[in-house]
Amino acid sequence: MLDLRAQFHSLEHDIRAALDQVLATQQFVLGPQLEAFERELAHYAGRRYAVGLASGTDALTLSLRTCDVTPGDEVILPAFTFIATAGAVAALGATPVFADSDPATLQMDPASVAARITPRSAAIIAVHLYGAAADAEALSALATEHRLVLIEDNAQSLGASLNGRKLGSFGTVGTTSFYPSKNLGAFGDAGMALADSEEIALRLARLRNHGQSGRYVSAEVGWNSRLDELQAAVLRVKLKHLDAWIAARRSIARRYDDAFRACDAICPLATPAGQHHTYYAYTVRIPGSAGHPAAARDHVARHLAERQIASSIFYPVPLHLQPAFETLDGKIGDLPIAERAAHEVLSLPIYPEMSEKQVDHVADAVLDALRS
Ligand SMILES: *Cc1c(COP(=O)(O)O)cnc(C)c1O
Repeated sequence: MLDLRAQFHSLEHDIRAALDQVLATQQFVLGPQLEAFERELAHYAGRRYAVGLASGTDALTLSLRTCDVTPGDEVILPAFTFIATAGAVAALGATPVFADSDPATLQMDPASVAARITPRSAAIIAVHLYGAAADAEALSALATEHRLVLIEDNAQSLGASLNGRKLGSFGTVGTTSFYPSKNLGAFGDAGMALADSEEIALRLARLRNHGQSGRYVSAEVGWNSRLDELQAAVLRVKLKHLDAWIAARRSIARRYDDAFRACDAICPLATPAGQHHTYYAYTVRIPGSAGHPAAARDHVARHLAERQIASSIFYPVPLHLQPAFETLDGKIGDLPIAERAAHEVLSLPIYPEMSEKQVDHVADAVLDALRS
């Protein structure tokens, strides 16, 4: 799906120098690299404050806690996302409530969110899927109208924007992930929470460090969840290249689009006007038949695998049907758009260093599969 070695080779000199700087100081946790990276990422993302955390999942958990989500609260989020979005809610003892997707974009459908608001609702998590945008404007309006907290899970769409505004800057808090496969990837786990309120930023900073308000005095129970200095040093080097990498991803996506335009069996996802898509994933829908909704997609994935071409399904099991959430009584048929998407989506290899020849090779294999 991606070749991280190609990226490392192009930056090896700068990264080794940055790591050497940390090794020389032997300061590994909560030091100058993180402070600088937080400043740089806040600037990049269009927010006043950034707080580095151990992972994107922790960024969600600590953000929910910072916004006073407590056991018994309901948090509305899409069924069609990575499990971590809901895991963070459940980790706090709150209840995930799953909303359906928009059939054209597969992003969370604001109308479905509106229908799930109850007196127990405390927050909405907007997930920006695939490098594209959920309808952050509609979700933000909905949150304001019902006095709910809006958190944006921007793990996949760092650098993307909607009508000129960076994703992750619409909600009370925006979170992101630097898991190695993300568009800005660390050499291990790392994440970030971004906000404009100083009060929220200070509470996040306290929560990541055992809730400590002073030396060995904890105002509340927190976590050990810090983005360490070695990761921050790597990420600072890489951040300088992020926009160029996104541009490369966008041109690869256009090449795939062109190759698939004439093929009726492949349905591209809609990208509404005003979006700057970062193509964390290049995802299409390949619809099957009534009785076998996943047959065509699975046939293509098999055909690619036989030719040593990777492909992925983001995501094959909608969250309301996950065994982990069995007690919430989700049933097949509850969220038809998300369920259909899980049968039809296929993500193809995409990474900035991918050559035109490689893109054509993948596209040809997909078209070939649909003819056979
Ligand atoms: C990657 C991802 C996360 C989790 O981030 P980690 O850093 O792996 O904990 C959460 N939500 C979405 C949508 C993601 O893609």
